[in-house]
Order: sequence, then C-alpha cells, then structure tokens
Amino acid sequence: MVYMQKHPTVMCKELVDKLKKEKILKKEEYLYLIQNRKYVEEYLFKVARSVADSIYGKQIYIRGLIEFSNICKNNCYYCGIRNGNKNLDRYRLTKEDILKCADEGYSLGFRTFVLQSGEDMFFSDEVLEEIISKIKEKHPDCALTLSIGERDFKSYERLRKAGADRYLLRHETASKSHYEKLHPENMSFDNRIKCLKNLKSLGYQVGAGFMVGSPYQTEENLAEELIFLKKLNPQMVGIGPFIPHKDTPFKNEKQGEVDITLVMLSLIRLTLPNVLLPATTALGTIDNLGREKGILAGANVLMPNLSPVSVRKKYMLYDNKICTGDEAASCIECLKQRINKIGYDIVISRGDYKGGKEND
Ligand code: SAH
Repeated sequence: MVYMQKHPTVMCKELVDKLKKEKILKKEEYLYLIQNRKYVEEYLFKVARSVADSIYGKQIYIRGLIEFSNICKNNCYYCGIRNGNKNLDRYRLTKEDILKCADEGYSLGFRTFVLQSGEDMFFSDEVLEEIISKIKEKHPDCALTLSIGERDFKSYERLRKAGADRYLLRHETASKSHYEKLHPENMSFDNRIKCLKNLKSLGYQVGAGFMVGSPYQTEENLAEELIFLKKLNPQMVGIGPFIPHKDTPFKNEKQGEVDITLVMLSLIRLTLPNVLLPATTALGTIDNLGREKGILAGANVLMPNLSPVSVRKKYMLYDNKICTGDEAASCIECLKQRINKIGYDIVISRGDYKGGKEND
C-alpha cells in the first residue's frame, strides 16, 4: 500500500485537498479518511467550512419543521414512532392546526416549511393537496417541503402539482443488505431508491440522507454513502447520529458518535459543495453544542421545530430529543444566539439551493 509510506496526517491532508479539488474520491480513499479521522479532523472541518462559506457565506438557513402526525404503518427497527410501539400516544394535527403552525412560523421569519409525519394513510392525496395548496396560497413566497415517506409516482406527482417544492426522504443506508437489517421484510431498499428517483424526475428538490452509527453499519458502509450521494446528486442531505429509543428493537444498541457525524458532514460538503446540509436535532441531542459543531464542520441549515408544544413529546423518534418543551419563538431565539456566538447569522430566506442542475 502506498498509504503506508507517509504519516497518516500527511496522507489525510493530501486526500482532503484532493477531495476539495476533485469533489470525489475513490471508496478506499474515503475509507482511509474515515478510519484515520483523528489525524485530520480539525483540518477537514476547516476546509469543509471554508467551502460552505464560499458558497453560502455566513448565512444559515432555517426550515420550520411541522410534525403533523406520529401515526405510522411502518415498523422500522430504529424508530420511536414505529407501528409496533404501543407505548406511544398517537396524534394527528388538523388542517387548521397545520396552517396555524405555518402562520406562526411565517411571523417568526420562516420562509420554508417541512411537513413531516409517519406514513399515515389518513393523509390521502386529496387531504394533502388541500393542505399544501392552502399553505402556498397564504404564503406564496415560501417553499414547501414534504417528508412523509414512500408513496407511488402518481401521488408524488399530485402533491408536486398542488405546490410542494421539495421532498426529504432519507435512504437511511446505501447498502441493500444493511437496509434489510434496519427494516422488516415488507420494506424494500429498491423501493426507497425508486422513490428518490421518481421525486427527482418530478422536479422536486430532493433530500436524501442516512443515520450515522446505526446498528450493523461499518466504516466501509460510510465510505459507500459518499459514492452513493455523489451519484444521486441530491440538493439536500440530512444526516444525524442514530440514537436508541427505549421502545424499539434497537433499544440496547449503541448510539452514533459525534465526531464521525461531523467528519461525514465535512466529507459530504466537499463531495457535493453546493448541497443544503442541516446540522440536525439528533446531533444537538447527543452533544449540547452538536449543532454549532455541525455548522463549523460544513453544515448550513437548521430545522427548528414549529409543531405545537402539546404534541412535541409525542414525536419522539429517539430518546431525549431536545427542544420538545419550548415555544417556537423561544426556540428560534435560543438558536439565533447560539449561531451568532460562532459568527453566523440566521436569515429570513427560502434557503434555495445554490447549484445548477448538475452539482459540480
Ligand atoms: N416517515 C418519514 C419521516 C421519518 S422520521 C420517512 O419515512 O421519511 C425522519 C428521520 O428520522 C428518518 O428518516 C430517520 O433517518 C430519522 N430517525 C428515525 N429514528 C431515529 C433514531 N432512533 N435515531 C436517529 N434518527 C432517527
């Protein structure tokens, strides 16, 4: 191996510089960086942050997350709102509730909303079309994102026509065999990927993503994520550490680590320089300064919660989720201060993707 001839610090720095320049590495090179991250973390974070700065400046975009239902037909082994969790109080917001969240968000400076839920079949195309068109009618200057799981092409098409602009659907892992260890048999990796392709072809701005440190994930899997993302070329990538939830089959599994999550954020920033990259609530949950660290490693988006406080604790994807007790207004105030402290500003903006069609 040529790698053995140089000190890992030198080797890693060269790989980071190469990645910055060429925006892609070979799988073995990504793997080498992931395995030797301790030697290069600070440098990697700095380079990734400078690339984010060169595209998005000192501005951090915010997206208002509205968790409108925790009812879900699926049984993902990691997820707290899985159908099999009988200890959970289920809720569904009404159309009026959802609109109220959006109105409140608008007055707080949000210009983009993410409607997220479990796969709740009550929300048929008709019901969703009405909600989407109402929000767009009231707030035509806002972008609307859906994060409601797998649906068929026709459904995605109808929702797009109703006014949805963006769609978040994490692929969860780029490895089919790993996917099968995280999900029951009736869920399929191929369908998840097909959904992402359908969304792209319908002109949605698409967000993919995965959990870092999910059970059975290897460092090689993480290297494969970067190759996968480069090929998929999404406008957004949502990643966060896996955190066990007490009422799931994975309750005794180890949680994901902060440092690997940060390294992955940086590697994603360098691989897809223009990508919209959130510092997630999960990252803020396992480390009090997780979101700030995420931004300093190359993230440029935050997704504060706009759900009514009365339901916040019921949308528990994992244990100890933060920001479940505060009103949206105080949440955003707290975030502003945190972000200012590290030299960045939260902006009132739709937070559009600053790349062309091809992410070069
Ligand atoms: N039903 C929608 C939304 C899912 S919840 C969908 O299928 O897309 C949003 C994301 O939370 C999931 O995609 C998953 O990556 C993440 N998540 C779920 N359980 C988690 C856990 N225990 N730890 C960390 N992230 C989790």
